[in-house]
Amino acid sequence: MSELTMEKLVALCKARGFIYPGSEIYGGLANTWDYGNLGVELKNNVKNAWWKKFIRENPYNVGIDCAILMNPQTWVASGHLGGFSDPLMDCRECHERFRADQLIEQYIKEHESDASGENEKKQTESPVDSWSKEEMKQYIDEKGIVCPSCGKKNFTDIREFNLMFKTFQGVTEDAKNTVYLRPETAQGIFVNFKNVQRTSRKKIPFGIGQIGKSFRNEITPGNFIFRIREFEQMELEFFCEPDTDLKWFAYWKQFCIDWLQNLGIKEDEMRVRDHSAEELSFYSKATTDIEFMFPFGWGELWGIADRTDYDLTQHQETANEDLSYFDDQTREKYIPYVIEPSLGADRVTLAFLCNAYDEEQLPDGETRTVLHFHPEIAPVKIGVLPLSKKLTEEAEKVYAELSRFYNCEYDDRGNIGKRYRRQDEIGTPYCVTYDFESQEDGMVTVRERDSMEQERIKITDLQGYFQQKFSY
Ligand code: ATP
Repeated sequence: MSELTMEKLVALCKARGFIYPGSEIYGGLANTWDYGNLGVELKNNVKNAWWKKFIRENPYNVGIDCAILMNPQTWVASGHLGGFSDPLMDCRECHERFRADQLIEQYIKEHESDASGENEKKQTESPVDSWSKEEMKQYIDEKGIVCPSCGKKNFTDIREFNLMFKTFQGVTEDAKNTVYLRPETAQGIFVNFKNVQRTSRKKIPFGIGQIGKSFRNEITPGNFIFRIREFEQMELEFFCEPDTDLKWFAYWKQFCIDWLQNLGIKEDEMRVRDHSAEELSFYSKATTDIEFMFPFGWGELWGIADRTDYDLTQHQETANEDLSYFDDQTREKYIPYVIEPSLGADRVTLAFLCNAYDEEQLPDGETRTVLHFHPEIAPVKIGVLPLSKKLTEEAEKVYAELSRFYNCEYDDRGNIGKRYRRQDEIGTPYCVTYDFESQEDGMVTVRERDSMEQERIKITDLQGYFQQKFSY
């Protein structure tokens, strides 16, 4: 199998209708991407798989869907207005802009990695993003780190750059009307904690999940849809009793690992990285990143954090509203602790694309490109292929029946082998071929994508057959 590169993946995504560059006819808009006819199905399937396991099937959790624009006081309370920033540095020579922490991390990777892994270990114990601006500047000067674009050593001082997008509500563009596009979906959950608890009649422990758009004015977006400025998050805020938080933290960590692995992510493609004491946010008792091996290296996929009672306490103080929970059995009143597993829908979609991609050498010497998607997330579930255009009427009936339950594609163009290859390349798990014999025996050939094995199934049995194949 040849190595997957981002170039290959981006090209396949564009050619087959997964993801196109945004606003392409106008020359594009940097780092924006549009999901095409297959991409929207894939991402919706990923979001539905999350919603099914985290919300619908889970006895503890319920869902919510909040507004993107929130009262700006939300961002005062959450700390985003004061502290949601990246350390930014400009090159005075070529005017490129960089994140100081990323420059240093890259330098360490290239210059200070040693065979024993000791230096990388040291870095994890005191990760660069926990250093002060002064410490970063001093390191850059001492090591003589150069501008990656022009090779010169003439950087400005490091400034903190707030990542929130600003806009105005109403007709006047002044500070009074400034609102922010939410940088995370979590805060909509916290401000509705009391509402949801009351209307759902849930008792602690319980969780509230949300899927929705978030916006961050990232300084260094890139790597396709890995880091973008407009993205979707799937977040759960799980509220529990203060002393039970670490138990629930372990529970949700495992739940997230299982979710990924059940959908086909392999053990050697992911790693679970616990944050060291230095790396933890000041309010967090424990944080773990689940990372995925992308073609460009390891990258964070899922952040799971024990956020203690920080967010609810902050909102309680800022809004001057009681956000405590009263336990009617123990007669105790307390602010619940929160475990937050937070996953990017676009980022995990990219991980599933990388995980699925394969170029297989076939016994006849040909190579087939195939996406081995888990059936649950495959954008097209069944390809319906009449062997000849003379069979259109009957094959269309099979298609119409299966389309009531699954996203199907009808393809009658080209020879059957080419049609199979095309379905392989978009990750369709099953193809149903209607041939001349079908008219006689009422059966069709079902071909499975990965094994390429074929079996004859009665048309009247197809629904039950696929129901079992697609159970998740
Ligand atoms: P990173 O270190 O990559 O910037 P983060 O630690 O800031 O991520 P969180 O604030 O924990 O990320 O967000 C939770 C999840 O949201 C991330 O694990 C990731 O999957 C997703 N995410 C965050 N920022 C982006 C982005 N710019 N583009 C796509 N997904 C994102």
